[in-house]
Amino acid sequence: MATSPAPIEISRAAERIASARQLVVLSGAGISTESGIPDFRSPGGIWSRYDPNEFTFQRFCASAETRRRYWEMGAGLYPLLRAAEPNPAHRALAAFERRGGLRRIITQNIDGLHQRAGTSPQKIIEIHGTALAVACLSCERRRDRDEVQARFAAGDLDPRCECGGLLKPATISFGQAMPERETAQAFADAAAADVFLVVGSSLVVFPAASLPGVALEHGASLLIVNREETPYDANAVVVLRGSAGALLASIARELALPLEDA
Ligand code: NAD
Repeated sequence: MATSPAPIEISRAAERIASARQLVVLSGAGISTESGIPDFRSPGGIWSRYDPNEFTFQRFCASAETRRRYWEMGAGLYPLLRAAEPNPAHRALAAFERRGGLRRIITQNIDGLHQRAGTSPQKIIEIHGTALAVACLSCERRRDRDEVQARFAAGDLDPRCECGGLLKPATISFGQAMPERETAQAFADAAAADVFLVVGSSLVVFPAASLPGVALEHGASLLIVNREETPYDANAVVVLRGSAGALLASIARELALPLEDA
């Protein structure tokens, strides 16, 4: 178990954030565990209960049985996502925007909690999409996920679009192409950052994991808030190990920023 960071480390992180003119944040599943959404890789995480190889994009497209299993997994996980509330870490990032200097939050998360915490939608890039919407893989029409999960619960085990296309939650699955515009924007933001803050990511899933390297190459200072070690810790000016909620709330306090309820 990591010991709590010293107050001096919190102050150093706060100073960097206060002086940032182009603050770019990369958030991962770890920022939302305190909202009750499990991450993928920690013990008890989603991949300890489901096999990721079963849910590749190719298998989803090829097999009605995989689609049924996928919607069944969604029946368990989606209500958790829908009911989750932003925690102090999401709210601290929203406060950083109100203070000024926030260029972007690039999130690997699919839970919509940055928006719910009050961060402006145009400041957020969801590079892995969103679990709150469903998209047709043929005509690309989007709809609310509630409607499709309800159809599944009522016995429609392979829900289709009116056009006949396959419906899939609007997340990026293993084997599925990353969204071009969002990915290009995320790399441009990383290159433009003067301070790059990672919150709750193991930094092992690409291409998101290459963003801190791009920021460093372009001269940004790297700050990392995560419970465990990451491959970039040695390159960071400050590494804060521990709870993202408590640590970001401490930084916001140091900057005299109130955390508003969402
Ligand atoms: P990950 O599961 O690989 O890593 C999460 C990291 O967060 C771990 O290193 C863990 O130690 C740390 N962590 C967990 N709880 C923390 C806390 N309270 N405070 C600080 N650190 C904490 O997640 P990842 O790197 O984001 O990548 C996995 C993929 O999982 C992403 O692609 C994302 O799309 C998806 N995912 C999203 C959600 C969500 O939307 N909330 C949940 C699970 C997985």
